[in-house]
Amino acid sequence: MKQTMPVDGKFELMALPYAPDALEPVISAETLGFHHGKHLLTYVNNLNAALPGSGLEGKSLEDVVLQATGGVLNNAGQILNHNLYFSQFMAPKADNAPSGRLAEAINAEFGSFEDFKEIFAKAGATLFGSGWAWLSADAEGNLKITQEPNASNPIRNGLRPLMTMDVWEHAYYLDYQNRRPDHLAALWQIINWDVVAARYEE
Ligand code: MN
Repeated sequence: MKQTMPVDGKFELMALPYAPDALEPVISAETLGFHHGKHLLTYVNNLNAALPGSGLEGKSLEDVVLQATGGVLNNAGQILNHNLYFSQFMAPKADNAPSGRLAEAINAEFGSFEDFKEIFAKAGATLFGSGWAWLSADAEGNLKITQEPNASNPIRNGLRPLMTMDVWEHAYYLDYQNRRPDHLAALWQIINWDVVAARYEE
């Protein structure tokens, strides 16, 4: 996967590739403002404060996630997770679905896109506490769905992350309150499958 490098020793808050209200009504501008502008910014600031003296200065974000422990790992993991999360969305689209080789791989591994969505949504809905549901590829290109607690990222287990749903309450509580499954079901409308396919083809 692409490496994210620090600039002058500091990681930067990623820029959103769409307007703050572009994902409405699936994700409100208010939720996006807090999630990207407050939560993710805090992870960025915390990591930049913790890096000096850690022995990981100057390394890519991905290498920090692979090599760090403790608070450095948690903040770096959350930055990598959110960068992949926010960059995979687009304005809502009815009948949104993958195509091409990625669609073929989903059908081969899970039976159909509908079956895949059901298994993935269940992984997100049943993850206890805070964390992330992921679609990843292994070294042979086989697709895997995993549940990752807290700030964990599949690269720690040798997988290549393709698509994710954030199930921390901060991702949905303003819009959906306790209804995590409703939030996850709505997210299928805004997954930019071209971005996910490009990650799969990398
Ligand atoms: Mn989050």
